[in-house]
Amino acid sequence: MEEKGCKREEVISLLSGYRSEDLHHDHILSSMCTIPHEIAVSVHEMFSGTNLGDPGLFPGTTQIEDRLVHSLGELMHHPKAGGYATSGGTESNLQAIRIAKKLKPGIINPNIVVPASAHFSFDKTCDMLGLEMRTVPYGKNYTVDCDKMAEMTDKNTIAVAGIAGTTEYGMIDDIERIGRIALENDLFFHVDAAFGGMVIPFLPNPAPFDFEVPGVSSISLDPHKMGMSTIPCGCLLLREPEQFGTLNVDTPYLTVKKECTLAGTRPGADVAGAYAVIKLLGREGFRSVVAGCMENTRRLIEGMEAFGYVRAVDPVMNVATFGDGSVPKGWVVSHTRFGHLRFVVMPHVTRDVVENFLADVAKIN
Ligand code: PLP
Repeated sequence: MEEKGCKREEVISLLSGYRSEDLHHDHILSSMCTIPHEIAVSVHEMFSGTNLGDPGLFPGTTQIEDRLVHSLGELMHHPKAGGYATSGGTESNLQAIRIAKKLKPGIINPNIVVPASAHFSFDKTCDMLGLEMRTVPYGKNYTVDCDKMAEMTDKNTIAVAGIAGTTEYGMIDDIERIGRIALENDLFFHVDAAFGGMVIPFLPNPAPFDFEVPGVSSISLDPHKMGMSTIPCGCLLLREPEQFGTLNVDTPYLTVKKECTLAGTRPGADVAGAYAVIKLLGREGFRSVVAGCMENTRRLIEGMEAFGYVRAVDPVMNVATFGDGSVPKGWVVSHTRFGHLRFVVMPHVTRDVVENFLADVAKIN
């Protein structure tokens, strides 16, 4: 830090320079985050000084968090779900598994049984919590093999997980079947719907994946992905809200005496923004956003197949994957662990973006 500060314009100009080096969303085809909705950006500024870590100081913002949790609980078919706004899917997954571990004390070598498709946040979770991570192989269509999952649980298993909207292929595990495995073996069942939680409910005839399914204990879903909030905004929901108590620590000098969240200081700005988007769009608005993304996904697949790229799987949501092939320069596309080209057709990947991309693909084929 320098002794003397700079002029405001200088600072802004310095930062604008760095910002201009960032890639533009209209060429990013690999991200599960998107341009935040305009109302989330305005509201973010309005709430920029709020801290949900000390709720007594910000009772208004705290009510907004409660409302967000309630709305998402309703969306997940359980209005009485407990929850809080996390920094994203990683924190939600970690906290869910922490709860599972607390609920089964006394197991010497605890393990969790997760699909091979599980996001790498589960590796971090197991590392931090000293758990063995048992990875269940893929079954059909890059979803988890549930027979193998059942075989891989044992007396040391504290939780199973299912993924509703896998990071790489956008597939949905058989949540009903995993729910039965969880109930039969008295296991905590966490559903990672960080991505799918704000897509699947808005698809026509979605597969059951939420609290509607018996046995589901907790769900991660991220407004900062398909919820178009500002970053960072995730949400962890529990079927039995009192289970959050297992994480409580005493907080002597705050306006509340106990806290179950991971972070102490927690932003309210993104939470208010996420709630604003939900209020503004309603289910109808989200259905239309998701329908647009699905339409663009179908157009991308049709266009790519016309150039000889072969789809890896029929997508159930707005993720498209293809056998390997080259991609025109200037576009950001990612690869799955099996080497497939992977596209995430987020709201910023509009029809124009898809057509521009396909026009560039035409030039290299
Ligand atoms: N879970 C799933 C299924 C994801 O796709 C992701 C990120 O893409 C995460 C968890 C982690 O979310 P975050 O990056 O917000 O921590």
